[in-house]
Amino acid sequence: MNRNLVAQARKQLLRRGRALLRAAQAGTGAAGRADALGAIDEAELNELQEIHAALERIERGIFGRCEECQSEIADERLARTPWQRQCSPCSGAEIAADAESRETRVSA
Ligand SMILES: [Zn+2]
Repeated sequence: MNRNLVAQARKQLLRRGRALLRAAQAGTGAAGRADALGAIDEAELNELQEIHAALERIERGIFGRCEECQSEIADERLARTPWQRQCSPCSGAEIAADAESRETRVSA
């Protein structure tokens, strides 16, 4: 794993995390809610958790490794979405398997 890429990914993750929190706080102000995370929607909360998990992987030195097959995730994939947990074959295999099961149901 390229150290430079890890540093860039870390910056990107922190920036995205801060933007999400700022948006949540802005929403909080308008709605007058006491809970800062109350204004965040489920998708954003999920993304925030993924960002947090990715930062944790960086700390542990396992960032960029696929959770399924332990191989390294492609650099350009991580540059685009640094919170990625799986390599492209693994996440693609999931989609393909899903499509295949649908196919089976249709023909049955
Ligand atoms: Zn994989």
